[in-house]
Amino acid sequence: MAAAEQEFDCDPSPLATLRHSTSHVMAQAVKRLYPDVKVAIGPAIEDGFYYDFAKAEPFTPEDLERISKVMAEIIKADVPFERQEMARADAIAFFRERGEGFKVEILEGIAADRVSLYRQGDFIDLCRGPHVPSTGAIKAFKLLSTSGAYWRGDERNAMLQRIYGTAWATQDELDKYLWRLEEAKKRDHRKLGRELDLFDFYDVAPGAPFWLPNGMILVRELEKFARESLDLHGYQEISTPMLVNKRLWEQSGHWEHYQDNMFKLEVEGEIFSLKPMNCPESTYVYKRALRSYRDLPLRYSEMGRDHRNERSGTLTGLVRVRQFTQDDAHIYCRPDQLQDEITALLRLVQEWYKVFTLEPSFKLATRPESYLGTVAQWDAAEQALHDALRANGIAYEINAGDGAFYGPKIDIHVEDVLGRLWQIATIQADLTMLPERFQLEYIDADGQPKRPVTIHRAIFGSYERFIGIVTEHYAGAFPTWLAPVQARVLPISEKHAAYGRAVHGKLRGARVRAELDDRNEKLGYRIRDAQLRKVPYMLVVGEREAQDGTVSVRLRTGEDLKAIPFDRVLADFSREISSREPVLTVGRS
Ligand SMILES: [Zn+2]
Ligand SMILES: [Zn+2]
Repeated sequence: MAAAEQEFDCDPSPLATLRHSTSHVMAQAVKRLYPDVKVAIGPAIEDGFYYDFAKAEPFTPEDLERISKVMAEIIKADVPFERQEMARADAIAFFRERGEGFKVEILEGIAADRVSLYRQGDFIDLCRGPHVPSTGAIKAFKLLSTSGAYWRGDERNAMLQRIYGTAWATQDELDKYLWRLEEAKKRDHRKLGRELDLFDFYDVAPGAPFWLPNGMILVRELEKFARESLDLHGYQEISTPMLVNKRLWEQSGHWEHYQDNMFKLEVEGEIFSLKPMNCPESTYVYKRALRSYRDLPLRYSEMGRDHRNERSGTLTGLVRVRQFTQDDAHIYCRPDQLQDEITALLRLVQEWYKVFTLEPSFKLATRPESYLGTVAQWDAAEQALHDALRANGIAYEINAGDGAFYGPKIDIHVEDVLGRLWQIATIQADLTMLPERFQLEYIDADGQPKRPVTIHRAIFGSYERFIGIVTEHYAGAFPTWLAPVQARVLPISEKHAAYGRAVHGKLRGARVRAELDDRNEKLGYRIRDAQLRKVPYMLVVGEREAQDGTVSVRLRTGEDLKAIPFDRVLADFSREISSREPVLTVGRS
């Protein structure tokens, strides 16, 4: 969609209409306060709106306060929004006369003969509408932030000043939204990543994290969790090369359709690429031997390190990266095994997410308009997916026509504690892409060669993204099995250092990630420090504890469980960690 049409295309839902109307009121207030400023565009966006202005200096927080005050006056005056139609040529003349060059440029890019304008009081804007009847309909708004933004998002164009705001139907809803925003800021994984020394980013490697020792513990624990589970469920792990000749991508079709997202290199006169996905290479493992119907299913899992050339402007922390590690798998099965495989996969997804107290929701995406394979193949595969979902008692939505061109799929989202929805896992039935393009076969019971079905699936999605999501989900307070430091031993004073060292040593011996904090600081200071680091348990030891062989257990939540025999604490740790308890249970057995 061209930019000129985009800004003209308003979302007509009531909330978007309210927000878009608020953006007009904001522009009116800005023009009133700063008459020389030129207006660009001001659409409703998710949860709010913005408006871009041509102004030499950025808006300051004080500016936003003044603008908000004027907006409140305009709202109080309850000025009606009036629609007016004009010939496009007249509108061009109108805005040219007012010196509003951006509006002229937009109008020049529109094909229609007539356009609509909206006026409220002394402010008139080019706009398709709709709007609320009058400014008094705006009950709750807040201006949130400012940023620079290029005209039409193009860095060759003029830099404009953008003001973001939000508007809601009631003050109560606005307050709730502002709370969520505040909470999301506190939980931002980029902020927590730095504060808790999990990972960091440096501009020498945009979109690729540097994992710090604490963050690497998260990676390792997740890998361990995944491997234990996959071993149990009949997967075989493989690892395929990252740097691959373009011949492979030509065969898979990526060269034709996906080249722009791939990093390419020239090696000895030939073109290679860093793999953007692991699918085609897994076929080499499948094809190494003649497969019989009795060999299937073959489940190849891979911790696939992939690279995708995302534009640097779109990169965001761990959730939008250039380098990531998928917890990938490709399952090769007979068509009659598809339903059982999907059933097992859905069970696995539920089992995994339960460990992280994430609530999954499921969407089945069906045959799109343009597809490969036959309708009969598609119908059978879609039926298998439906049946597998039902067999697991899963409620699901249908995204009609949203399947991949090579097969239907199940997309799995999780909702975090702030009610945000993240797509993480995907289960895709591939009837044609890998099987046809790589001519995969197995010898069936009748002695004839047949094509297997491939299932592409990832449950974490990628380790990077999943760690970003759970860091925010837990607000950095990881369950003990994941926590980089699981316990801190705090001797009350120098006199108890020896007992503290003994306790620390026994914890380490039992593979508890424990630290000894015997710094010459007040106990209160050291407790607060451990809480800030979100260490689940503090074990305080003094005279009485040393005598009785106990430790005083404190939780990062501030709860004080008092003295408990150390042997019991040790046993509790082992149980809590090995069973990957989602909540803190040590000292409560
Ligand atoms: Zn408008
Ligand atoms: Zn794949």
